[in-house]
Amino acid sequence: MGINQNIKKIKNELPANVKLIAVSKTKGIDEIMEAYNAGQRHFGENKVQEMIAKQPHLPSDIHWHFIGHLQTNKVKFIAPFVNMIESVDRLKVLKEINKHAAALNRVIPCLLQFHIAEEESKFGLTLSESYEILDNNYFDKIKNVSICGVMGMATLTDDKTQISKEFKNLKIIFDTLKQKYFQHIDSFKEISMGMSGDYLIAIEQGSTIIRLGSVIFGQRD
Ligand SMILES: *Cc1c(COP(=O)(O)O)cnc(C)c1O
Repeated sequence: MGINQNIKKIKNELPANVKLIAVSKTKGIDEIMEAYNAGQRHFGENKVQEMIAKQPHLPSDIHWHFIGHLQTNKVKFIAPFVNMIESVDRLKVLKEINKHAAALNRVIPCLLQFHIAEEESKFGLTLSESYEILDNNYFDKIKNVSICGVMGMATLTDDKTQISKEFKNLKIIFDTLKQKYFQHIDSFKEISMGMSGDYLIAIEQGSTIIRLGSVIFGQRD
């Protein structure tokens, strides 16, 4: 099946409250345009250089989600156009996003990335590290970033019980933060979890954003 059919098939199966991000990393303009022409508008990239290389060649109504590890010195390159940064994992990067967003007179929606997997290699905060950020005096001064929820990646395993447990944990983290810091902030509502291999489990556990690459575009090299 082609990209067009893949997108239509996946979209047909999704509950109305779940947003699909097409993860286009390593894919070219033609492949992204095929997804665009199938109606897809939200795309995800995990490298700054790659995102800024593609963005000018693509329609301006695309919503770009940055989903990879973000170095502070690269924030300025994506700040003018990025629609959501899903991978905020430290106060320093939050401050940098805020600084550039303020200079551009915009508010950038962001998610806090949590470490929910067993693998040590995956980035992300622990719950107590997120408290340190949200309790920091500086956090009140951050006016040009809107914290819209949480993101996480499950362990790469065939053990569905394990994956389910990890996603459930991210939902609990979301609920805890909502209760403690964002009770009256309606925009704090997103739980970004679920990739090609585990998105159905993620949806069962309350995902609102799924990030799919290979089931849309085919395997990456
Ligand atoms: C690559 C990537 C995805 C998509 O992975 P697939 O398994 O191809 O769906 C999702 N989220 C992040 C953060 C990624 O880096």
